[in-house]
Formats: sequence, structure tokens, C-alpha cells
Amino acid sequence: MSTTTRDEAMVEEAAFPQPDPNEAGRPFWQALRDGALTFQRCGACGKGWLPARSHCPGCLCPDWTREQASGRARLVSWVVYRMAYHPAFASRLPYTVAVVELEEGPRMISNIVRADPQTLCIDQPLSLVIEDESGTAVPRFVPATGQGA
Ligand SMILES: [Zn+2]
Repeated sequence: MSTTTRDEAMVEEAAFPQPDPNEAGRPFWQALRDGALTFQRCGACGKGWLPARSHCPGCLCPDWTREQASGRARLVSWVVYRMAYHPAFASRLPYTVAVVELEEGPRMISNIVRADPQTLCIDQPLSLVIEDESGTAVPRFVPATGQGA
């Protein structure tokens, strides 16, 4: 009979989950490695979007351009995780998963870091930070400083 608990086994296996991008997503992850958050904008209707995909989610047009985000964003919604649903996150509890709207329009799921979750508020100005996770550049956000909401 094993004396290893389920939690101990999870910790031993803990490795940050890595993205497995499709063809449309590879330039997004490469740009992050180069220090830029990018998104796609439709050539027909002007909609900007994330995550990467081959056609506009608004009008299905296949003609789009890739743009670099300013890094300015606002907090739309968030939840504070107090339980790890993947072992790689067990040591990070509690952590914040948020819906963030870029100044340019696209929304994305990200983390709010370097902030007390108790201090977050709707529409709070945020700034992009790109953090390394086991060799993968990951876009996250911190509360913006020096400007009012
Ligand atoms: Zn479109």
C-alpha cells in the first residue's frame, strides 16, 4: 500500500502547462517572446480579436492584419482561485484569473499579478507585463500606476 497522498503525487508532477498553438496562434506566442502582445484586426469590419484564429469572429472575413497592443487595458471581471485545478498552480494560491479588455478592443483571459485581489475594481486601468513561465512568455497584467481611472 502506497503512503503517497494524492497531493504529494500532484506536486511531483507539477509543470506549468505549455501552449500548443495552431498555425494562427504561433505568431502570437513568437511576438510575446519578442516582448509584444499582438492581436488580429479584420480588414472588412475592423473588429480586433484574441485569441488568434484564421477568420474574423465577427464577419468570417479571412483578410486581417496583426497589430501590436499598447499594453493599456481595463479590468472587466475576475475571480480569485483559492484551490488549484492544476498542480502547477498549487504554490501560487490564491491567484487571480481575469477578463481584460485591451485599449484596442480585444478581450482576453489573463492573470492580475502583483496586486492584492481585495483592491481590484471593475474598469480598473491595467498595464501589460510579459512573464516567463518555463521558457514561455505569458501576457499578464498589473494595476496601472500614475493615472486615474
Ligand atoms: Zn470582420
